[in-house]
Amino acid sequence: MRRPLVAGNWKMHGTRASVAELIKGLRQLVLPAGVEVAVMPPCLFIDQVVQGLDGKSIAIGAQNCAVEPAQGALTGEVAASQLADVGCSLVLVGHSERRQVLGESDEVVSRKFAAAQSCGLVPVLCVGETLAEREAGKTLEVVGRQLGSVIEELGVGAFSQAVVAYEPVWAIGTGLTAEPAQAQEVHAAIRAQLAAESAEIARGVRILYGGSVKAASAADLFGMPDIDGGLVGGASLNADEFGAICRAA
Ligand code: 13P
Repeated sequence: MRRPLVAGNWKMHGTRASVAELIKGLRQLVLPAGVEVAVMPPCLFIDQVVQGLDGKSIAIGAQNCAVEPAQGALTGEVAASQLADVGCSLVLVGHSERRQVLGESDEVVSRKFAAAQSCGLVPVLCVGETLAEREAGKTLEVVGRQLGSVIEELGVGAFSQAVVAYEPVWAIGTGLTAEPAQAQEVHAAIRAQLAAESAEIARGVRILYGGSVKAASAADLFGMPDIDGGLVGGASLNADEFGAICRAA
């Protein structure tokens, strides 16, 4: 049985003051014991969140890591080993905003995935198609390529300690949540692609849905057989709404 995971990706939001408020709200939440909960603040607030959530069972993740796992001369980047040192246990790799805005390639994403794992962090591999790709009937091809490139580079065994997040680009920040059945179709395809290499790993890997998840839409999405939780953007900036999403998982 897969333990659901709900992760809040705060993206590039927050100030010290607003983060302090959010921590206060998160501390007050009653969270379901069977669900793993994580938040992913901007890098410079990670330490504040680690301290602020001390004793609360919420894991801390980062939104990105460098391709090189060890600290060194790479201006502006943060190494996975540094993230682990300050208390992170997870890190997003290949978020669509980074693929699209910063031009991160499948190859770069694979290297970040490997860097994360080599430091004991669980990578959350984000995959998803744009609206144009969906309309052209290329959803499964695009998602299959993004996932396949990591499998090819690192082997399916890498997914025994990893999470996949399906985030259709057209659903991110738009209020247009994918229909549960629409998301389920892609989640099932992701699991089948992994199962073609290892049935056991495919059965165990958690596949999250992301893209305008709200408290109102969460239960229907999380009720689908291959949706094992959510990667929540905007709604994770409100502690009460985030708590409601966690309770729906
Ligand atoms: P929204 O929930 O704001 O659509 O963002 C989803 C996302 O990109 C999470 O990583």
